[in-house]
Amino acid sequence: MHALIIIGAGPGGIALAAEASASGIDPSQILILEKGPTHNSAIRQLYPEKKLTTANYKGFAARCEGLLCVRDMTKPETLQFFDKIISDYHVNIQFNAEVYGMRRPAEGGARFRVESSQDQRDRYLSQGELRRLKEALDEKVYRKGTNDFNKTFCRLRMIVLIAVTTGMRASEIFGLRWSDVMYNEGLLAVRTKLKGGKMRYVPMLPELAEELRLFMPKPAKKGNVRFIVNRDLIFPPKAEAKGARRRVESSFEDLLDRAAIEDFRFHDLRHTFASWYMMNGGDLYELAKILGHSNIKMTERYAKLAKQHIARTSSTARVMWNLLEPACKTANVG
Ligand SMILES: Cc1cc2nc3c(=O)[nH]c(=O)nc-3n(C[C@H](O)[C@H](O)[C@H](O)COP(=O)(O)OP(=O)(O)OC[C@H]3O[C@@H](n4cnc5c(N)ncnc54)[C@H](O)[C@@H]3O)c2cc1C
Repeated sequence: MHALIIIGAGPGGIALAAEASASGIDPSQILILEKGPTHNSAIRQLYPEKKLTTANYKGFAARCEGLLCVRDMTKPETLQFFDKIISDYHVNIQFNAEVYGMRRPAEGGARFRVESSQDQRDRYLSQGELRRLKEALDEKVYRKGTNDFNKTFCRLRMIVLIAVTTGMRASEIFGLRWSDVMYNEGLLAVRTKLKGGKMRYVPMLPELAEELRLFMPKPAKKGNVRFIVNRDLIFPPKAEAKGARRRVESSFEDLLDRAAIEDFRFHDLRHTFASWYMMNGGDLYELAKILGHSNIKMTERYAKLAKQHIARTSSTARVMWNLLEPACKTANVG
């Protein structure tokens, strides 16, 4: 439990932690959760080496209020400046901790629960739960007693199928556009930029590609010309929905109830993908690429599943043993 949790160890997050500490909050009660392996990733990754960090940026005159007056500095000086702030104000940073949600617990109050990749929540769907989820996903495709598609439900079904078979985050799924579906390559392009501005691609099963084809809206017809707007979002926001989480929450909970799946959150679909990937002999480095982890440390939590799987199956060792055994048994020892 912390009095203050700050998301991101950039200049803003570190300055806020230092100010809070200077205002009298016990530094041990302040925590920064940073998804990268170190602080100030924007400065490290995006600023050219020779670029000065200028106090007045893009014409905005900086007015110095509070503790940290930043003057024009070189990139190394800026990073040293923040190293010193972190040390002087005992700023407590948890690295490789990506925040993916905040919840106000049911009992209310002013406290929030911040959910991050460091929670070490190991909840993923078992085989039986996956089967029940699939049944619950399929049973409401048509409106009761008709052959009409239940559009709202088909949307949720598609979102869940993408999450569980690609490991994409909710925000990434809601950012998908039709032009991101690479049918020929069997890939989905994820727009969240990686280090160095690179795009990420996740594998798309042919079955998922087919489902997406069916889900595609009929091309609009104007005169004799038909067109689909590739820039269009696959899951455009509903008028009343604000955050990505709100766009799935209630219908997802209803789905879980029908599938009799307990203690499960939407983000656990990502854990489910990653866990099953490793249990089926997947490669940790490939998984890191698919999940878009900037650091392999974030992926290592799944490594133990591969170990358990290897210990359970050990099929190669069995073959070797069988090959060796007869030779030993028939050998005339002594
Ligand atoms: C090329 C370039 C040059 C620039 N030059 C200047 C300049 O000279 N002067 C200037 O004042 N500004 C400059 N800027 C803008 C500058 O980068 C910002 O002013 C500054 O970095 C903003 O600080 P911040 O802490 O708000 O955000 P950021 O520096 O972006 O820090 C946000 C941190 O949050 C982390 N984070 C994000 N999401 C999550 C999550 N879900 N969970 C956990 N952690 C998360 C990120 O990894 C990151 O470390 C420049 C920007 C660029 C791109």
